[in-house]
Amino acid sequence: MLKNRIELVQGDITKFGVDAIVNAANSSLMGGGGVDGAIHRAAGPKLHEECMEIIKKIGRCPAGEAVITCGGKLPAKYVIHTVGPVWHGGHKNEPELLENTYKNSLELAKEHKLQSVAFPNISTGIYSYPKGEAAEVAVSTAKNFLGQNEIPEKVIFVCYDLENYSIYKRLLNL
Ligand code: ADP
Repeated sequence: MLKNRIELVQGDITKFGVDAIVNAANSSLMGGGGVDGAIHRAAGPKLHEECMEIIKKIGRCPAGEAVITCGGKLPAKYVIHTVGPVWHGGHKNEPELLENTYKNSLELAKEHKLQSVAFPNISTGIYSYPKGEAAEVAVSTAKNFLGQNEIPEKVIFVCYDLENYSIYKRLLNL
């Protein structure tokens, strides 16, 4: 059943021993603040090296797109790096771009046959996307994808802050 395939947790995503954690990266894939910085610090140099190799090939990772690297020293096997949209008021394709981050991350997980994927609340930190609206996009996109695909088996929404956690709890009827 779809409901058992979505989990909600409050915590630090770098601690999760899942098949893949998703990173709310920036277009340079060079690490930064927030969850991106935490993931790069915990994963160590191998992650950075693989990100640099990808950037050498593609130049930059545009908003909405996703790429995959190893997990380095993280308990997670892989990191899926996706670039969320910066919130500019909602009329610059922000909802579509945010939807694409979840969809493209899940597509990559499916291609690599990854069964468990943990997502942070993409764009709701430094990129200022309103938390309630971002959560609606995240939950509906994950539900649609899981409804149409058997892999990944499980999506885990990892909320760092209590406000996001409460929003997801309500949206997921938990
Ligand atoms: P963005 O630039 O996409 O807004 P941020 O990293 O600033 O990315 O924030 C995205 C979300 O990640 C925020 O809701 C923030 O609270 C959360 N976050 C920050 N650190 C962690 C962490 N270690 N684990 C999970 N989520 C985190």
